Amino acid sequence: MFKSFLQLVYPRLCGACQIPLLASEDFICTGCRFDLPKPGLFIPTPNWITAKFDGLFDFTDANAFFLFAEGSRVQHLMHEVKYKGHADLGEFLGFWCGKELQKAHSFIFYDAMIPIPLVAKKLRERGYNQAACLTKGIQQATGLPSLEHVLIRKIQSKSLVGQNRAQRYESLSDAFGVENEELIKGKHILVVDDTLTTGATFLAAAEKLKAAGAREISFLALAALK
Ligand SMILES: [Zn+2]
Repeated sequence: MFKSFLQLVYPRLCGACQIPLLASEDFICTGCRFDLPKPGLFIPTPNWITAKFDGLFDFTDANAFFLFAEGSRVQHLMHEVKYKGHADLGEFLGFWCGKELQKAHSFIFYDAMIPIPLVAKKLRERGYNQAACLTKGIQQATGLPSLEHVLIRKIQSKSLVGQNRAQRYESLSDAFGVENEELIKGKHILVVDDTLTTGATFLAAAEKLKAAGAREISFLALAALK
């Protein structure tokens, strides 16, 4: 009764399409749960996601949970997670993605996840790292550990919008550092971020992790731009 009254005054909205949620729904409406665009996990390679890394880095696999497009419900969802303070929505999406990942045979080959970090200043301003919210949700769903004190962000690059992959890569080459190397030595690390556009951020992080002793690197984005 009280919940439905609150829902009338302050309707909880679907994080993707913004329609009011039913009392039985959390974060995402049932319609969006079923038809947000998804490219599929572990699709045959080579594909448009692996093409972003092919020839640039020796990775094992690359996946995206949602398909990103300008002005789409997925863009709205990512915006809510990244800029509107909805860390809990990020964890929910991570949990959902984790449950789907777990169904794939290849999933069992990962040893740990590492979320793409923010620089300390940005983390203080935002209050949370959206990529770490995702790995927290995935960990809850699957038990795969998330290592948050290995990869550090030394430089938060200025907006990369409008730069091509080579330019982005250049601005990111010194963006990351590695601490506590012993935690990743000989391990297959799944690097996780919210969005995958050119792949430059993933590549810069992956090179540091590989150089620090990780055995294999795979990539996972919540949403990727085709
Ligand atoms: Zn919806």
